[in-house]
Amino acid sequence: MLIHSFNPPVRTLMGPGPSDVPPRVLEALSRPTIGHLDPAFITMMDELKELLQYAFQTENALTMPISAPGSAGMETCFVNLVEPGDKVIVCQNGVFGGRMKENVERCGGIAVLVEDAWGEAIDAGKLEDALKAHADTRIVAMVHAETSTGAQSNVATLVKLAHKHDCLTIVDTVTSLGGTPVKVDEWEIDAIYSGSQKCLSCTPGLSPVSFNERALDKVRNRKTRVQSWFMDLNLVMGYWGEGAKRAYHHTAPINALYSLHEALLILMEEGLDAAWKRHHKNHLALRAGLEAMGLTFIVKEADRLPQLNAVSIPDGVDDAAVRSRLLKEYNLEIGAGLGALAGKVWRIGLMGHSSRAENILLCIGALESVLGNMGAEIKLGVALPAMQKVLGKS
Ligand SMILES: *Cc1c(COP(=O)(O)O)cnc(C)c1O
Repeated sequence: MLIHSFNPPVRTLMGPGPSDVPPRVLEALSRPTIGHLDPAFITMMDELKELLQYAFQTENALTMPISAPGSAGMETCFVNLVEPGDKVIVCQNGVFGGRMKENVERCGGIAVLVEDAWGEAIDAGKLEDALKAHADTRIVAMVHAETSTGAQSNVATLVKLAHKHDCLTIVDTVTSLGGTPVKVDEWEIDAIYSGSQKCLSCTPGLSPVSFNERALDKVRNRKTRVQSWFMDLNLVMGYWGEGAKRAYHHTAPINALYSLHEALLILMEEGLDAAWKRHHKNHLALRAGLEAMGLTFIVKEADRLPQLNAVSIPDGVDDAAVRSRLLKEYNLEIGAGLGALAGKVWRIGLMGHSSRAENILLCIGALESVLGNMGAEIKLGVALPAMQKVLGKS
């Protein structure tokens, strides 16, 4: 077989991540590789920390990207904070809460699940009951933005509750960071992780994390060693810590970090407030189009994530055939349902650089065309005007 260079097709990414990566970020990735201990690189690392502190709205010194995808950020939080025998309450309202439970158990902890229906936000009352029933709980873990359902939970309230019961908190903000407000210091989140490829619109493969002093105290005073050598923060900090003296831990993904630096710089130039407003407005425009067509959201309005729109697949419509036509005919990727929602919903992402008027226009037009062509029971000719009415408002 003769193998050529790989040239991927140019797609519009409107799934649950990765999202469209701006040309500036791709260009940054291709800049010259330098050493991971080069003074110029160390200066870039310090800026990267500062940019991440801005994105997370925190002054936490331990704020840095883990050299691996969001799942590794999740694992970093659990392996460092959960010791064998620790009881951890995991709030589960979708796929990612389930992964948190797996993490707790693999760390030798005891997971107590507080479950809410898929598509609903985490219920603070249920968490409070569980905290009372399990007074020996050490940590509470929750997903801010459940990408599997499109529901957002009230992290500020849930963290407050956890602290009232002397628990540390681990919060997943993989899909929320950069798309909806995430305020680490104001909400007093102890350990947080995110991902590069969702609303930050960076290339996939990096996971920003941040730990406050309370969380670090627990890491420093563990009775047992962190079972993962790679993710042990006591060791990673030798490379990412303060000052010019950095020790080799692992070779940082140099070029990937250039791209995260650029993506975060774009976010800072736009401003967090402006980015959150843009995500909200574009969600309203997409929603107007989808609802005019006759599609319905699975999450109630108050809990909806603007960057992840989960809608029911109309009766009798072949899920895979629609997605495959969107990809083949329009180079448009939307997301399938995950876990319990597989085959039942589409997940349309408006994350980061993907959250643009031209993408909404393409998505609404392409969906209407494909669904109409397949004879689905949708209203034709009304979606675009409904969408444009919202986009036209300033
Ligand atoms: C995508 C996602 C993850 C996992 O991130 P990867 O980069 O795919 O490892 C974790 N949590 C949530 C909520 C996500 O959306």
